[in-house]
Amino acid sequence: MPDEKQRPEWVPAEGGDEYASSVMKGVQGGHDGMRDHASRGTTSRKPGPRRRQLSVDDHVQGVLNGDRTILARTITLVESNAQGHIEMAQEVLKHLLPHTGHSIRVGITGVPGVGKSTFIEALGVYLCKQGHKVAVLAVDPSSSITRGSILGDKTRMEYLSREPAAFIRPSPTGGTLGGVTRKSRETMLVCEASGFDVILVETVGVGQSEVTVRSMVDFFLLLMLSGAGDELQGIKKGVIELADALLINKADGDNKLRAQAARTEYNRALHYLAPATEGWRTRAYTCSAATGEGIDKIWSVIEDFCQTTSEAGVFAARRRSQTLEWVYSMVEDHLKTRFYQDTRVREIRPQIEKDVVEGHLPATIAAQDLLKIYEDR
Ligand code: GDP
Repeated sequence: MPDEKQRPEWVPAEGGDEYASSVMKGVQGGHDGMRDHASRGTTSRKPGPRRRQLSVDDHVQGVLNGDRTILARTITLVESNAQGHIEMAQEVLKHLLPHTGHSIRVGITGVPGVGKSTFIEALGVYLCKQGHKVAVLAVDPSSSITRGSILGDKTRMEYLSREPAAFIRPSPTGGTLGGVTRKSRETMLVCEASGFDVILVETVGVGQSEVTVRSMVDFFLLLMLSGAGDELQGIKKGVIELADALLINKADGDNKLRAQAARTEYNRALHYLAPATEGWRTRAYTCSAATGEGIDKIWSVIEDFCQTTSEAGVFAARRRSQTLEWVYSMVEDHLKTRFYQDTRVREIRPQIEKDVVEGHLPATIAAQDLLKIYEDR
């Protein structure tokens, strides 16, 4: 819901009042996201010329040419769960793959209210002004469960959405974190093929989604607040260990000094933690997403990171291992789904679980029995 946010100080004065069309509407609910295609001919809705079925080549050429409408439709195809669409999406991706990888992938996390949306807008507008093409994606598994997203409605980024060089895509609803991740990763590749050279991936500071986003980005940024203990902020030490930089937001007004004190404090603590990236020292910085102060500094830190880690070979090595990890995480997801959906496994589980909790069957034997039942199909 658009809030009563005041116009931030970094907003260019010439900004008009209309919303641009670069905020995409996410696929909602459990349908396959391709209803318009799939139901053609069965609804009374007249398919306009733009809604004709696109071929693999139409998708590929459209994305490579930077056609926004086709980019949006390709992402919708990638997000679809329908088998036919998954196959077509994979064919499209295969052709796009040689054109991917030429971007800086930045993950951004922090608890709700820390200022992620405001920060991403400020950074996004700043980067567009510098001549970058910026895609903003979100990974928010909560939206699948609650239908209400913790990350909220990205149409809030009204200033960034007016930038012709920005593209904002809300979190897909995938049912599972694995589903959401597959879609977000593939969307990231599609955006890269379409010429976006900065990908900002937002996630929320709760649960497993941070580990997942860490595994798909080059640089991981943790937004924090001063004046609240880590516990209050819901930030676990594990999350700090994933970060390539801590950024204390809202360093403005009365809060500025406190933010600077927090920065010193965190820098001291960071000395004792292993860095998230080999050859890089994680440090704390301050910024104000509201005034824009510190936005240029954090971007120069990210650029420095890319240069340092590229020269050391760490950047490319991480990308390679991320791709392989992704392959195996999909294999694991698939195996898990098949195991739990197996009819015989489902039949026997209640009995085995009962025996385990009542102490008649050791856990190891129970696991062996279940796997044997699955493998003997
Ligand atoms: P998110 O939930 O992490 O996406 O946080 P939002 O971007 O929605 O920001 C939460 C609230 O904090 C909003 O009312 C923002 O206007 C405010 N806010 C965000 N950044 C700053 C900042 O740098 N300074 C101040 N004073 N307020 C901020």
